[in-house]
Amino acid sequence: MPTQRFPIKKTLMLTIWIANDTRGKNSNKHFPSDFIHKPCKLAVMTDTYYLRIALPVPLRRQFDYLPLANTAASHYEVGSRVRVPFGRQQLIGFVLSIVTETDVPVDKLKSISESLDAKSLVSPHILELCQWLSSYYHHPLGEVLDLAIPVLLRKGGQINDIAEPHWRALSTESASSDAGSPINGKKQLALWQLFQQQPHWRHKDLTQQGFAKAQLDRLSSLGLIEPYQQLPVPHCGVALSLKTEQALTLNSEQASAVDKISKQLGKFHVALLDGVTGSGKTEVYLQLIAKTIEQGQQALVLVPEIGLTPQTLRRFQARFDVPVVMMHSNLNDKERLIAWHQCNQNQAKILIGTRSAIFTPLPSLGLIIIDEEHDGSFKQQDGLRYNARDFAIKRAHKESLPIVLGSATPALETLHNAYSHRYSHHKLTIRAGNAKPPKMKLHSILHQPLEFGLALPVVDKIKQHLNAGQQVMIFINRRGFAPTLACRDCGWMAECIRCDARMTMHQYPPHMHCHHCDNQVGIPRLCPNCNSLQIEALGQGTERIEENLHKLFPGSDIKRVDRDTVRTKDAFDNLFDEIHKGEPCILVGTQMLAKGHHFPDVTMVVILDADSGLFSADFRGMEKTAQLMLQVAGRAGRGEKPGEVWIQTLYADHPQLNLLLEGGYHGLAANLLQERKHIQLPPYSYMALLRTECSDKHLAEQVQNQAREFIQNWLNQYWQGNLLSLSEVQADTTPVTLIGPFPAPMERRNGRFRQQMQIMSHQRNSLHRVLDPLVHFLENLKGIQKIRWNLDIDPIDMS
Ligand code: ADP
Ligand code: ZN
Ligand code: ZN
Repeated sequence: MPTQRFPIKKTLMLTIWIANDTRGKNSNKHFPSDFIHKPCKLAVMTDTYYLRIALPVPLRRQFDYLPLANTAASHYEVGSRVRVPFGRQQLIGFVLSIVTETDVPVDKLKSISESLDAKSLVSPHILELCQWLSSYYHHPLGEVLDLAIPVLLRKGGQINDIAEPHWRALSTESASSDAGSPINGKKQLALWQLFQQQPHWRHKDLTQQGFAKAQLDRLSSLGLIEPYQQLPVPHCGVALSLKTEQALTLNSEQASAVDKISKQLGKFHVALLDGVTGSGKTEVYLQLIAKTIEQGQQALVLVPEIGLTPQTLRRFQARFDVPVVMMHSNLNDKERLIAWHQCNQNQAKILIGTRSAIFTPLPSLGLIIIDEEHDGSFKQQDGLRYNARDFAIKRAHKESLPIVLGSATPALETLHNAYSHRYSHHKLTIRAGNAKPPKMKLHSILHQPLEFGLALPVVDKIKQHLNAGQQVMIFINRRGFAPTLACRDCGWMAECIRCDARMTMHQYPPHMHCHHCDNQVGIPRLCPNCNSLQIEALGQGTERIEENLHKLFPGSDIKRVDRDTVRTKDAFDNLFDEIHKGEPCILVGTQMLAKGHHFPDVTMVVILDADSGLFSADFRGMEKTAQLMLQVAGRAGRGEKPGEVWIQTLYADHPQLNLLLEGGYHGLAANLLQERKHIQLPPYSYMALLRTECSDKHLAEQVQNQAREFIQNWLNQYWQGNLLSLSEVQADTTPVTLIGPFPAPMERRNGRFRQQMQIMSHQRNSLHRVLDPLVHFLENLKGIQKIRWNLDIDPIDMS
């Protein structure tokens, strides 16, 4: 890797090096031509140069600017920030390269307004990865880079803005309360004693211990201490006086996984850790991380949005004597910058974070772990629609290190890669410790009486578990009181005025809520259609079940866990501490309950609305249902006591549901993969989804039709012109298939009509080759500003 500060001549070489390198390593991959700078004439050295800059604007191109007057090219590093005039605004962008030629007439070029960094802020690795993201997801590089750095830096802030006031001792004079000593008073003496134990203190830590600014100023005026500013450094668990936790003795499956994967340290390798819930995947991660740290390297652990609890952090801090930092959506901008800086400085050795933590610079990164790799929250659903798991694999490849994908229910894409030996496959089939796998049972409610939505044998079972002093979990993936409010007299149903969807009735506080656009209105007393008083809530959500459970099990402790009861991290934390006390209770909740939590005293799990996912329009519907069901089921019997799972269903003979119960996840997955192969859906093909939305239904449709026509023309032209490669011709006579345009499953959302078209191919290359000109076409299409459109690569949400 060339260093970044160099005279102009080397800069030119770097420009070319990036171009060649990207082409070389991705020779079989698509790479849009605008990222590859035209070879510059090295022999001609001139004093005139231009800065090629990526700006956070929705345009897929780069912008040339003049440097500040009288600055040499060596003043600018690739990856450093500059402020530039753009229209009437000032924007912050990144220097991508320094060039001697520009396509813009020189008199039209503007000069940058300010250079913000003396050194590059984005390392060459991260820059190249962002370029890859930009090309793979067909998203403007400037916006990708903008996402890659913390908000405060995005806004033009500096690292030093997060420096904190500290004090340091200047003298070693011992403290005494003797008459004549300049230090007087107990408090001052105590303060001075602290400085003798440890010469550096953060101002905040001292004030937290009850010392006042005046006391510090007094010691300072005596020349004993002095103030200074310092960037916060992360602390280890030991310094935080956490009890240290020893590594567990691994069972043979765990040991084999640790042994085999750790042999891959130092090189690129993708390992699937395919372990049933409770099989001790975390222990495998911890021991792999320990080996990484022993080698002086850093580890990055990505977890789903919901799984990042303070318990996770404590567990890591208690295990390692190196600083561990967290990055998640609850951090404020300053905390996020601090974590970013500590990772970038190699002070933090372990970073645990949600999706966007994947962008964090970690100069000595040695291992990446993706926990619950199948989880949908790794895919961003707006703006840059990237999948952090896939990006992490790319990063591991780029930085030559192993990546572990862990899950009890791996995504079919991942399983397919493991079955075809692209990933190594490590199975953990037994639960760690003494825990036994839960017994799962489909309970038919067809023609059966229900008591408040629960089958009678289920009610009896719950009683048994409660009487035995155990905890029961009832799962329904629907919050609120009831999903439908309807009139008995005329059949009217409460629908959202902005969406093709019903409004959910909530009781705490009472209101009607559209979960798709957030529209909220009061609960009508009369039917707005026929003025009847006979309006009724149909179906049930968590609130209603909670209410019913109080009637069914009077006096029992019932806790509801959903987004309405657990709004803050603290509330989450307190609730989990409560549950961990192990008192008998019924937990009723949404998928918030399902993911990753370890509740040793839950012995029974009831799944109430298994059926809703069975007939989904999404081709991933069954896969997602099975994953969620097994995650929920996995909460049962994780401790010493065995667990059982009851699934209430109208379709007890549903073949795939039975396959899941009899053959487990892998049995079902094999069946689903066969189905996908048969109809050539991912992972047997590659997909992009073009979405358009507009308040004018016709416009949303029209743009889709234009896109379709464009692709067809493009294919005809290239096909006839023989511009496709021989392998594409041999592999496939129709390199790209179009399905649609058709209305989205929910056609109208938030007042806009939505259309979509699936663009599919058997070869990733062929797909991306057509997407590039398509994006260009759409960007320049007349009237495109009137609609919203996006291109979703490897979409996982088809709604
Ligand atoms: P998973 O992530 O696979 O669902 P966890 O990592 O949460 O499972 O482990 C489940 C429980 O088993 C935890 O309480 C953990 O401490 C315990 N455990 C893991 N490995 C071992 C082991 N080798 N010996 C004993 N207990 C273990
Ligand atoms: Zn009515
Ligand atoms: Zn709505």
